[in-house]
Amino acid sequence: MSQILTIALAKGRILAETLPLLKRVGIEPVDDLLTSRKLIFPTNHANINLVLIRSSDVPTYVQYGAADIGIAGKDVLLEHGGEGLYERVDLKISGCKLMTAGFPNKPLPSGRLKVATKYPRIARQYFLDQGRQVELIKLYGSMELAPIVGLSDLIVDLVDTGNTLNANGLAPLEHIMDITSRLIVNRASQKMKNQAIKEFVSRIQKAVME
Ligand code: AMP
Repeated sequence: MSQILTIALAKGRILAETLPLLKRVGIEPVDDLLTSRKLIFPTNHANINLVLIRSSDVPTYVQYGAADIGIAGKDVLLEHGGEGLYERVDLKISGCKLMTAGFPNKPLPSGRLKVATKYPRIARQYFLDQGRQVELIKLYGSMELAPIVGLSDLIVDLVDTGNTLNANGLAPLEHIMDITSRLIVNRASQKMKNQAIKEFVSRIQKAVME
């Protein structure tokens, strides 16, 4: 009997680059993921299903085995912590940078800085490594607003073109790390569905190297 694989994909920016990659390994959803309101999608392979979820939920679905495989940004994986899953392939897609940002040419206040971010875990480690005392403020979106309304002195966020920062009078300041999307695998699935996962991972690895 062929092993069924469920692959968790992140909605949003990553999806536009993930679908062409899947297509290159011969996997295509039956419906149009970009327009459909469904959350579970059969594909042209009877044993492969896709689920479409929030990017920050992808590691959680894979950790608990609700999906065997997932595609998520390194930012999301570091913030999650990586319990219960293996990071198997750097897909080299959706590249961007995790940076601190704030007002250009405006001196930062002395003392404890306030930093707004969707990534408190990564940000805490970054500032800790530098011996800098900060107060982290967890936000779920629109980080750029925080310095403008005085909620924070800095933000930690993903920067691609820099247009979003620029449009809000902000600038990238410190580079924390480069980010790309990764293929992750549930630890139990890797054992139980070894054959199907091995085949899928090796096809993806080949496609990434082409
Ligand atoms: P940009 O204006 O091109 O610098 O993009 C910045 C905005 O897009 C911010 O809100 C980021 O959180 C988001 N963003 C940029 N790159 C990515 C990515 N690879 N994955 C998810 N979100 C991203």
